[in-house]
Amino acid sequence: SDVRIEQIKHNDELHQLIDEFNGMLDRIQRFMDQQSDFVGDVSHELRTPVAVIEGHLQLLNRWGKDDPEVLDESLAASLQEISRMKSLIQEMLDLTRADQVDMQFPTAVADVRAVTTQVVGDMQMIHPDFAITLEDELHDAAWAQIYRNHMEQILIILIDNAIKYSRNRKEVHVSLGVSHNSVDLAIQDFGEGIAPDDVPRVFHRFYRVDKARSREKGGNGLGLSIAKQLVDGYHGSISVDSAIGSGSVFRISLPLLTDERRAELQKLDAS
Ligand code: ADP
Repeated sequence: SDVRIEQIKHNDELHQLIDEFNGMLDRIQRFMDQQSDFVGDVSHELRTPVAVIEGHLQLLNRWGKDDPEVLDESLAASLQEISRMKSLIQEMLDLTRADQVDMQFPTAVADVRAVTTQVVGDMQMIHPDFAITLEDELHDAAWAQIYRNHMEQILIILIDNAIKYSRNRKEVHVSLGVSHNSVDLAIQDFGEGIAPDDVPRVFHRFYRVDKARSREKGGNGLGLSIAKQLVDGYHGSISVDSAIGSGSVFRISLPLLTDERRAELQKLDAS
């Protein structure tokens, strides 16, 4: 058997193969660890709404038949928990799909400028009590390799958060520009801000600075992890600058497509 090991040691190709194989095993192990963490997190998150619904059903069972007030309250609370669970399930699906972005290697392209203009307009319409402004430094379309609906989703998550955590100042500034090889977006609010210790954690799955507060706003701690997974999947970057009490700026950069590359991809997409 010594001889065989010697032979393997001297065989560069085999050695390389073994390295690759070990690397693959490491990646599989990491993937499995992540999956089991995810299942643990999900079970934990589902436990609260299920317990709340169970509690209300017990109330209903005991007193609901005779007391219309208990009936109304328990039904309303249970329905609210169910709609929360529905959005949690939807966001978990989004998260698993966002995981696969890189593998799909989309031929889809989107004009980030057009998408941003549209989303800002839509969000302004949905939130008439806010001033949601777009500062657009571009003179032309800014194409990136991304599905249009993914670009929309990223923007909606960030603008939605800016609104949710705005406190009293009902303003959101979105700005759009390009540098030599990227299209850059910033979403700024003047709300509660994020403490330095929490900044690195806000992109983690299910992380909320204040659980009760996020819950009250209909959040479940998945928005930013979905946004990050999407941006990473498209080889972009996302970061945040924030200060407690004065607000946050979330920045996204996506690789800018050259006109030639865009034409190529659009041709592929059409075929
Ligand atoms: P959630 O559903 O709780 O909003 P997210 O993943 O979108 O989940 O955000 C995670 C946490 O990061 C939030 O619970 C909140 O504490 C914090 N956060 C996100 N965006 C902002 C913001 N614009 N200002 C202040 N805190 C924010």
